Amino acid sequence: MKIICIGRNYVNHAKELGNAVPKEPIFFLKPDTAILPKKNPFVYPSFTKDVHHEVEIVVRINRLGKHIEEKFAHKYYNEIGVGVDFTARDIQQQCKENGMPWEKAKAFDGSAPISPFYTLDNYKDVNNLNFSLQINGETQQAGNTKDMLFNIDSIIAYVSQFFTLKIGDLIFTGTPEGVGPVNINDKIDCFIEDKKLLSFNVK
Ligand code: ZN
Repeated sequence: MKIICIGRNYVNHAKELGNAVPKEPIFFLKPDTAILPKKNPFVYPSFTKDVHHEVEIVVRINRLGKHIEEKFAHKYYNEIGVGVDFTARDIQQQCKENGMPWEKAKAFDGSAPISPFYTLDNYKDVNNLNFSLQINGETQQAGNTKDMLFNIDSIIAYVSQFFTLKIGDLIFTGTPEGVGPVNINDKIDCFIEDKKLLSFNVK
């Protein structure tokens, strides 16, 4: 199982980090060891002093596919959840400056807390979904999937040119603006619409 993450998929987030708006999807991978086991706290890694939250809609692939045409992409998933793409922003900045890969900053153990998954019939329109993240009860990030530069179907079509998608693979679809630091003892809650689907503490 692999986790594919899309970068800079919301214009206002690309801008807040001073990045150009991409012409095609940017992606990177996290290993399965990045998934935060249910009920575990997120343990603040010792190698960084600037862990940022990035709340994202996560898509679960339910069908084997390669070179998927965009018009058929909707047949390859039927469940979504919400997750956090934890990022060691200080390490990522060093990687960027040195032209190095991002994995040290993005793919570490526990860097991918993910909610349970819910079938699409729970939602009116997957391309018009509100989602958000709170720290200690205060909203820090709120986005809507209609603001994605590349929607879920076009992401699936794009990444399946490079990778065979397998049942159970997950796609983090990018984060809206408002990323920022988390601290030890914070309580993190993530929502799709007004339903809290993911909750954990930072230790
Ligand atoms: Zn992200």
